[in-house]
Amino acid sequence: GDVAELQARVSVCRACPRLVRWREDVAVSGRRASFADQPYWGRPGPSFGDPDADVLLVGLAPAANGTNRTGRMFTGDASGDVLYAALHRTGYAALPTSVAAGDGQALTGIRIVAAVRCAPPENRPTPRERATCAAWLERDLELSAPRLRAVLCLGAIGWDATLAAVRSLGWDVPRPKPRFGHAREVALTTADGHGVRLVGCYHVSPHNTYTGRLTPDMLDDVLRSLRR
Ligand code: SF4
Repeated sequence: GDVAELQARVSVCRACPRLVRWREDVAVSGRRASFADQPYWGRPGPSFGDPDADVLLVGLAPAANGTNRTGRMFTGDASGDVLYAALHRTGYAALPTSVAAGDGQALTGIRIVAAVRCAPPENRPTPRERATCAAWLERDLELSAPRLRAVLCLGAIGWDATLAAVRSLGWDVPRPKPRFGHAREVALTTADGHGVRLVGCYHVSPHNTYTGRLTPDMLDDVLRSLRR
């Protein structure tokens, strides 16, 4: 299978009853007033970006009125505004904004996935939901593995999900388990024996960007470091 086939399979997943109910409730009756006249995707968020990417970016989970509305990772919310602006400044994104399908946005050299593909209530997936969705992350990592050089994890949940996924895929991971940190970097080895850099970055959520915990410069530095 290839990336397009995986995207199609992810988009119809219904494995987590609580998240299926939530993503569909928001889409049908819980729309934000400013988006009331828009169609909502109301499904899992498939990966977005370059199918031949050598960098994977792992986020946490879709936002109820962001990806759950637009159907594209980090598209249509405050986190995405920060992320795509940085991806554009550092040469990965065609445009500084990501509004909706058909806007001309395209990524080169990077593909965006998430630890959990459905919008969770309060942005908090349960441990069981994280474990269930891990199968999709594993598949995305496996598909990209032959050309992969780096995995950029936004936040500790993406970091932990990635480490668990690559361990299941038989990659060599340092022990004890490396802890997440901003600009933290760890060397992994794939099952076929080549090196992949695991890089941590504070999540682009408003909680981090409005408070200055994650500045545009810090984000740009991490994204630029991926090209080394
Ligand atoms: Fe499927 Fe993941 Fe959505 Fe659960 S969170 S329903 S595993 S896509």
